[in-house]
Amino acid sequence: MRVSACGICRTDLHVIEGELAPRKSPITPGHQVVGVIEAAGESAKLHPLGARVGIAWLHSTDGSCEYCKAGKENLCDQPSFTGYTVDGGYAEFAVADENFVYPIPEGFGDLKAAPLLCAGIIGFRSLRLSGIERGGRLGLYGFGAAAHVAIQVARYWGAEVYACTRDVRHQKLALELGAVWAGGTVAEPPKKLDSAIIFAPAGEIVPAALRALKKGGTLALGGIHMSTIPPLDYNLLYQERVVRSVANNTRQDGHDFLRVAAEIPIHTEIEIFPLKDANRALNALKNDAIRGAAVLQVD
Ligand SMILES: [Zn+2]
Ligand SMILES: [Zn+2]
Repeated sequence: MRVSACGICRTDLHVIEGELAPRKSPITPGHQVVGVIEAAGESAKLHPLGARVGIAWLHSTDGSCEYCKAGKENLCDQPSFTGYTVDGGYAEFAVADENFVYPIPEGFGDLKAAPLLCAGIIGFRSLRLSGIERGGRLGLYGFGAAAHVAIQVARYWGAEVYACTRDVRHQKLALELGAVWAGGTVAEPPKKLDSAIIFAPAGEIVPAALRALKKGGTLALGGIHMSTIPPLDYNLLYQERVVRSVANNTRQDGHDFLRVAAEIPIHTEIEIFPLKDANRALNALKNDAIRGAAVLQVD
């Protein structure tokens, strides 16, 4: 693929800073890659040359383990991940298996499409696992790239969204995108929530999010890495509240999400950086200084 845009994800920071154990070094990060197919292997025939496609985090699976056979390829025993175990999209060219790329819906420009490929897909899977239903109340903890897409899907599904995030600019963005309330990370939303998702990599938020949940509510943890969760008073969990993590995505999640994204249509807020300024973009992300998602533009 000739790369035209690559979204920046917090996972890239976790890879670069070693919070995820190094699997390949050096590594080219980036797993929200948009571009056109420049060349194809002899047996590749799913997509024509010149087709506009995206590469996401799930780079390959073995297709044969018990999880793959059970339709849970996101939990595959022998997976590879773009920009972590194989080189990703902070680059002019990238390579992927034709079975693991996604046609990009027409309505999205390359730069605006990039954040859909992880922030969007993982946010979508998190929404599904949070059990949020039409008309329900959903809490979003941390309001970066994933949450700013997830809120649009949640509202499309008729949910009421409460945003808890430490950064005032992010609170403002949440309200602009239709949150009924926005406050600090451990501030208590005015109403009890049916479901909540923590996107921030901060384990200390877990007790606060549980406190905000109704009986029987589900808290989904959307990040690949999280700081230590403090000891929990069992009363916070009792009454059948559920805490669950979200790991990777299946290809079906990707295709389902991109269809919904085009239907809504999702509007991604992006800050564009040239490829050579990747470090500056990562630093801005680390300091909560990105509104929506950061995207690298590759010439
Ligand atoms: Zn990601
Ligand atoms: Zn497998």
